[in-house]
Amino acid sequence: MADNHHLPDVIVVGGGLSGLCAAIEAARKRCAGGTRGKAGDTGGSTALSGGFFAFAGTSFAGSLGIADSANLLREDLIATSFGRAKTDLIDTYCNLQHELFEWFEEQGIHFSAV
Ligand SMILES: Cc1cc2nc3c(=O)[nH]c(=O)nc-3n(C[C@H](O)[C@H](O)[C@H](O)COP(=O)(O)OP(=O)(O)OC[C@H]3O[C@@H](n4cnc5c(N)ncnc54)[C@H](O)[C@@H]3O)c2cc1C
Repeated sequence: MADNHHLPDVIVVGGGLSGLCAAIEAARKRCAGGTRGKAGDTGGSTALSGGFFAFAGTSFAGSLGIADSANLLREDLIATSFGRAKTDLIDTYCNLQHELFEWFEEQGIHFSAV
């Protein structure tokens, strides 16, 4: 029988934004593990990113008096992709982006409007 005693709880593959967020959340949940990047690097496309996020219906937008919603964001993302983007991915993002915004805020990452 294999000895599972020293197996990590989590291995995060990739050190871009997705992987680093997963690693932070795993650490917060006190999971033992580590990250594995290709050639040991971190950053990926994330290091090239302009750092802009599309959020809608957040408390921040509300505080600025911006009346938007996940539905409006969904319509906007579909329109700006000229209908080519996968709607299931857009739906997933739009349904979860509010939670993502709150999670970033919890990590001390604060956004400003553009
Ligand atoms: C120039 C540019 C500007 C952008 N600006 C924006 C912006 O303003 N706003 C926005 O929302 N998005 C922007 N994007 C898109 C955004 O950067 C990406 O969608 C996002 O960074 C993807 O994050 P990720 O963690 O999924 O992937 P990545 O950041 O690419 O991370 C993937 C990581 O996985 C590693 N990896 C890959 N394959 C393996 C493997 N087999 N084994 C181990 N590791 C592996 C890679 O080396 C990399 O470190 C921009 C993209 C570019 C290129």
